[in-house]
Amino acid sequence: MPGRPSQPKDCVADRFSAFGTTIFAEMTRLAIEHDAINLSQGFPDFDGPGWIKDAAIRAIRDGHNQYPPTGGTPELALAIADAWRDQTGLDVDPARQVTVTSGCTEALAAAFLGLVNPGDEVVLFEPFYDSYRACVAMAGGIARFVQLRASEDLGTFQFDANTLREAFNERTKVVLLNTPHNPTGKVFTLEEMTLIAQLCVEHDVIAVTDEVYEHLVFDGSHIRLATLPGMAERTLTLSSMGKTFSLTGWKVGWAIGSAELTRAVRAAHQFLTFTTATPLQHAAAAAIRDPGDSITRLLDRYRQARDFLCAALSDLGFRVYIPAGTYFIMADHTAVSGPLGIADDAQFCRYLTTEIGVAAIPPGSFYSNPADGGRFVRFAFCKRRETLEAAVERLQKLRP
Ligand code: PMP
Ligand code: GLN
Repeated sequence: MPGRPSQPKDCVADRFSAFGTTIFAEMTRLAIEHDAINLSQGFPDFDGPGWIKDAAIRAIRDGHNQYPPTGGTPELALAIADAWRDQTGLDVDPARQVTVTSGCTEALAAAFLGLVNPGDEVVLFEPFYDSYRACVAMAGGIARFVQLRASEDLGTFQFDANTLREAFNERTKVVLLNTPHNPTGKVFTLEEMTLIAQLCVEHDVIAVTDEVYEHLVFDGSHIRLATLPGMAERTLTLSSMGKTFSLTGWKVGWAIGSAELTRAVRAAHQFLTFTTATPLQHAAAAAIRDPGDSITRLLDRYRQARDFLCAALSDLGFRVYIPAGTYFIMADHTAVSGPLGIADDAQFCRYLTTEIGVAAIPPGSFYSNPADGGRFVRFAFCKRRETLEAAVERLQKLRP
């Protein structure tokens, strides 16, 4: 129609206006544009095991191509329930307590939408994985942040117990715990998790745990919140196969919890995606039921990658917080960026990508106040050795 603008104005709903484009997509785009080695977005630059891919191809050929049940294929739900029993000693009914989702991302969205009413409070540790805050906003919840602060002495990130206690009140519905933690690489200790569990019980709060890095632990061990006293009934455990099997694009995830918590997840899941790709569920079931030595081998590989990149970054003057888990390194860049006259994480990561040819994530978008992440940079080391070596060679240009 003449005189009418062809695009509607302000078409993005207000609930998303604060979030913009995710930093992962933005940095990967910038990396491609500048031909930079991409240590920003966390995905392996090598493929997952061939036998898992073959299982998916076979499932397609065998005709597993129509909608599965909304909770997941019976084979995958059972494989998840059996693995859960082996890991925790807890029995879950695969039909009523396991929900297969499209990645952990969808499990998170379904959990928040299914559990949180407008005005309910959700406790988040920051820095946080970026989808949490957007999901809380989609549900109309209010996020309360508890910061993990870098401890120079301990070389790790810690929260203050009193700050956590103060974050819980009668409006708190959910606390989200991500361990092993992206982006800090922190693996929460039994003492820390015991306090979180006690607060949940005391305030009648539901815990949602994001355990996508459950198998990527180098130091210490992965503790599952659901196994702590009083927590089996009030914990919804979320995970996915992307990191464990180096198949991040498959987006097969799940939620494990009581029948009641599962009802909440499914209330949302049925209208979000309804189901998750059937043949990939068949392959996921095979992988989870019998991973062979694939996880141990991956862990060895990542341990070497972690040690290599941590040493190289320290040598360049970064203050590295050695990750106990995940495939990320958080480092303080100020000793390197200061002499270059660079002030913050966003500026430093842009400089790294465009001038040095190595892309990394500015962690500001993982904080409620982005300035709190200003002195940090996050590198992903889920890459082939030659990729990491090439990146380190380029980073030598940072030497004064
Ligand atoms: N949680 C965390 C902490 C992550 O780092 C990621 C990374 N992808 C996800 C959830 C999303 O998992 P998925 O790819 O299975 O959706
Ligand atoms: N989890 C990955 C990371 O933290 C990427 C996820 C994504 O691109 N949304 O880098």
